[in-house]
Amino acid sequence: MKIRKKLMPFILVLAFVPALSPIMVFAKDYGDSIYHIPWRFSVYEYPDKAARRIATFAPQYIRITYTNEYGWAKIPTVHGEYWVYLNLAPPLWGRTVILDAGHGLGADITFMNYSEQATMLRLALKAKPLLEELGATVLLTRGAPENVPLHTRPALINKWTLQALRAASDCEEEIAEIDRLIHIMEKIIANPEYYASIYMSAPFDWTRRRAIHPDLRRIFYLQNNPIIYQNFLAISLHTNATSRPVNTGVNGADVYIISNTTHYSINYFNNYTNFERSRTFADLLLDKIDALGISRRQISTHNAFVLIREHNIPAALVENGFHTNPSDRAKLMCNIFLQSLAAAYARAIVDYFNQIRY
Ligand SMILES: [Zn+2]
Repeated sequence: MKIRKKLMPFILVLAFVPALSPIMVFAKDYGDSIYHIPWRFSVYEYPDKAARRIATFAPQYIRITYTNEYGWAKIPTVHGEYWVYLNLAPPLWGRTVILDAGHGLGADITFMNYSEQATMLRLALKAKPLLEELGATVLLTRGAPENVPLHTRPALINKWTLQALRAASDCEEEIAEIDRLIHIMEKIIANPEYYASIYMSAPFDWTRRRAIHPDLRRIFYLQNNPIIYQNFLAISLHTNATSRPVNTGVNGADVYIISNTTHYSINYFNNYTNFERSRTFADLLLDKIDALGISRRQISTHNAFVLIREHNIPAALVENGFHTNPSDRAKLMCNIFLQSLAAAYARAIVDYFNQIRY
């Protein structure tokens, strides 16, 4: 009884706090998983709903140190370790997949009634619910036919990863630095015409003399953290075309990934850390697209693509066939095929996260 009375004021204070910020509540520690809980959730003293409820929180990233077989996860807070009931452990739970539907309205590429921006948006919007059913958090650089400027897109990717790192940090200096970098990304997102040329290789420096901006370099080093490279994957969705004169006989799917060794990147930034992971995903995906009848071409390194160059997370730019080829184009213009293609992405993404254990 005496102990209970002692605890009462502490418990009451917690019970009336509607939502605490992640910085105040969640402490960095020995855990190895970070998860995004997309709904309001409560933490309990024991892994049992009959146990005392300690507090309720707004949706946020949390760090999990232990999960039991009944669907309960243990999370560290500054008040001690408590339990949250998650009730699910689907294959992509805790993973964040960023889908970038290439181009946009006003920046479209069209051929024989085919629209690349509309088709890739359709593919992204078909893949999103499949991935969410599998437990993933899916973030889209655009979810409508709008034209999101090219350099806004990697700035969004950087911002989202910095937000996840911020949630995992308990160091004030580190959080202050992350906030400063998030603010820079927000400036690019709001005004890419002005800020992308300051912080990114924009327009791309074909003379190959430009070195990466120190703030972007810092972001790239921060992203080399298991919280990011084990949980995030960015995919830019495109279809290909042969240059004029159009050779309609060329068909098949390609994937582009970043490397440290081509002469285009070596003076800009040469410490990208996800080559093997990106290649693992590209390999799995090309096999699955091939099985759908768009033949596997190859994985290539390329450094002139903004969506794989201006961040340092596992990423692939996918050319889902040639829209200049009648057979590939007919498939891509068919909704049933796009649904199968979206499912192929979901299977490749599940296989990818199962394979990367490094
Ligand atoms: Zn494209």
